[in-house]
Amino acid sequence: MSLIKFFSTNGHLDRVDFKGALLAGQAPDKGLYMPEMFPSLSPETIRNFPQMSYHQIAYQVIKPYLGDLVEESALEEMLKDAYSYEVPLERVYDGKYLLRLDRGPTCSFKDFAARLMGRLMQYFLKEEGRSMIILTATSGDTGSAVAHAFYGLENIKVIVLFPEREVTERQRRQMTTLGENIYPLAVTGKFDDCQALVKQAFVDPELKGLELSSANSINVGRLLPQAVYYFYAHSRVAPGGEEVVFSVPSGNFGDLMGGLIALKMGLPVKKFVAATNENDEFPRFMQTGVYEPIRPSRNCISNAMNVGHPSNLARLFSLYGGQMDETGQVARQPDLSAMREEIYAVSISDEETRQTIREAYSQYKVLLEPHGAVGWAGLVRYLKEFGDWSPAVSLETADPAKFPDEIVRLTGVNPSLPPAMASLDEKEENFLNMDGSYASLKDYLKGFF
Ligand SMILES: *Cc1c(COP(=O)(O)O)cnc(C)c1O
Repeated sequence: MSLIKFFSTNGHLDRVDFKGALLAGQAPDKGLYMPEMFPSLSPETIRNFPQMSYHQIAYQVIKPYLGDLVEESALEEMLKDAYSYEVPLERVYDGKYLLRLDRGPTCSFKDFAARLMGRLMQYFLKEEGRSMIILTATSGDTGSAVAHAFYGLENIKVIVLFPEREVTERQRRQMTTLGENIYPLAVTGKFDDCQALVKQAFVDPELKGLELSSANSINVGRLLPQAVYYFYAHSRVAPGGEEVVFSVPSGNFGDLMGGLIALKMGLPVKKFVAATNENDEFPRFMQTGVYEPIRPSRNCISNAMNVGHPSNLARLFSLYGGQMDETGQVARQPDLSAMREEIYAVSISDEETRQTIREAYSQYKVLLEPHGAVGWAGLVRYLKEFGDWSPAVSLETADPAKFPDEIVRLTGVNPSLPPAMASLDEKEENFLNMDGSYASLKDYLKGFF
């Protein structure tokens, strides 16, 4: 089998293998890496999935992209180690399920991607005797998922910049109570300031020797692991091989891309529901064929989905023959009718999100948080319009305990703290405060030479 190469969505001619794409993060022309082809899993392979565990399915899905880059036994170990937690399918009614992706160490679905990416990076770096510093800015969830994923790994240090006043205490503690190779910086400023500082450091020639890398959602290493849980969920709710409807609460569209990759690899899917909050640039595009980013993005209660220009749309367009650059300029329209065939896009207001949390609890005793509620509301709309379809799976991307205030107000239930977060409040915090100037960050980074 020849090794799958990755190309840049902006059209740069160089092709790289998975290792190159993973360590580079972004292509040299600022495009995103996409696999040149999607290996298809045979119906027989997929038929065996109901008897397999999560990490065994992950092996089948991911291995074809790696070829011989990673030894078989090493990959098996990594997957076992990364996916050591439960992935429950909760039945809501009839054949309608919630896929709870919130049981990882930071209680959001970002753990799935970050944990495998961290292990693969460490493997390749070790092989080459290299080390790396991951420099990343966060508004909350990504920073903690990445910090936990890289925690304790050799050869990699993680510096996380977060806006001092914009993260919740629990989100902060998820980053600051680790220690070891994790270096959190509380920055005086907003998330945008943190991101600007990080970008400046990446292009600073005086810091070249530091091997800075980012771990944000554009890295292809975060994309492939997100194809796995679609196969897993399908194997559990449709062991006979029927088509399944998946509803995906979407912000930067990495999660949905994972599903579409699964589809291209042969997963029987009836439809993907792409459910956004009031940042509805994608649903509007699907209706009109005109793409207009929303600037600035709208603040909704599903805050991890407040994205006015999702970077993964470049990949989505490329999948359907189109081309979009990093600024959102469309150089070539994708095949809209093919997209509509496979994706149903819908925007859910905050009002509907709250109503959905209330109703899911009163009707089914199911506790949703705002992101998962957007997904569920999207599914309900789809079923209303196109008739009942079973089986159907809606993705729940975070633990309700991350958003206690909203949920207590809407349902009267105080969501219990998952074990992963239970001891957070007692642990000792370690972080530095930093003013928002680049000079301060640069001084700090020079200390890592
Ligand atoms: C990041 C995030 C999302 C959105 O996922 P994308 O891949 O960016 O579309 C949804 N829910 C939660 C809880 C998240 O943290």
